Amino acid sequence: MANDCLFCKIARGDIPAKKLYEDDEVVAFWDIAPQAPRHFLVIPRKHLAGPAAVTAADQSLIGKVLRVGAELAAKEGAASFRMVTNEGAEAGQTVFHFHLHVLGGRAMAWPPG
Ligand code: AMP
Ligand code: ZN
Repeated sequence: MANDCLFCKIARGDIPAKKLYEDDEVVAFWDIAPQAPRHFLVIPRKHLAGPAAVTAADQSLIGKVLRVGAELAAKEGAASFRMVTNEGAEAGQTVFHFHLHVLGGRAMAWPPG
């Protein structure tokens, strides 16, 4: 847990978010600036700065983040979806707490910008 981290605050409930799911390890909430008709984030409660901070000790937790994201996409009616996680400012990371973007509900282009 990092005191000054936005997503730690959301996980703790200190800052409100529209949550789809939470348990003792992960939290999912709708993105405040959606880039698709369905766009939510799945985070571990544990503060990890991003994918480069994931160690062997975290790999089952991050696997769970992915599994929960896929299950919630199906629940939200998105049979096709894209999952993205950004590492570093150049890749577009703005919040330095690991998060999986799950985007669905529209056709996606490739390669991403
Ligand atoms: P990234 O640019 O990959 O670090 O993604 C950060 C995401 O967090 C962006 O899509 C933002 O729209 C989203 N975001 C920032 N603040 C909030 C918030 N308070 N509640 C929900 N999503 C947020
Ligand atoms: Zn954090």
